Amino acid sequence: MVYTVALTGGIGSGKSTVANSFSRLGVTVVDADVIARQVVEPGQPALDAISAHFGEAILLPDGSLNRRILREKIFFSAAEKQWLNSLLHPLIHQRTQTEISNALSPYVLWVVPLLVENQLHRKANRVLVVDVSPEIQIARTIERDKVSRQHAEQILAAQATREERLAVADDVINNDGSPDGVAVHVDRLHRQYLELASQAAQQDKE
Ligand code: ADP
Repeated sequence: MVYTVALTGGIGSGKSTVANSFSRLGVTVVDADVIARQVVEPGQPALDAISAHFGEAILLPDGSLNRRILREKIFFSAAEKQWLNSLLHPLIHQRTQTEISNALSPYVLWVVPLLVENQLHRKANRVLVVDVSPEIQIARTIERDKVSRQHAEQILAAQATREERLAVADDVINNDGSPDGVAVHVDRLHRQYLELASQAAQQDKE
């Protein structure tokens, strides 16, 4: 198995910014959110199963998934949420494994926003948390997503806490400062991960 570093952090903490820095160093980035969207693209069996289950009204006129309606359905029914999860989780898991096995870099950065919420931290060899103070996190989220302070605060409250994330972290990047500081930190971690991946590959051979 390719050595896997999971990257997580709350909304607006800087996951994409950090992932881009690793990507610039040649590291393959596997993004859990992208995979979750791919498995329900038109033509995928999961989308057919969803429209058979909920009816065609779950589709937009162009045949793609109407995420807003689906979100509402599962928000109001634990049973529907369970149904959807048992359909999608194995598909997401399978696709993630395939992407990780196909990676060409010595290790993979697996970006998982809900790593802690979905208790996925044990699936990675190492966990890197992007940590940021809640005030900065809220300000950056408001700026990027053009949402109200109240909305940003609600999203933060629904996610794992900063302390819960730090409790599963092997490494922490603090992103309260400038992007330049992050890039220097990423360079250092990259060298460390190359070393750890090489040690793990050696152990696999023995
Ligand atoms: P996430 O992927 O965790 O939601 P992003 O990487 O998109 O977070 O960062 C959230 C926003 O904050 C983006 O608009 C990004 O450009 C900005 N940002 C990220 N890191 C910094 C930083 N160190 N200084 C200033 N702005 C930042």
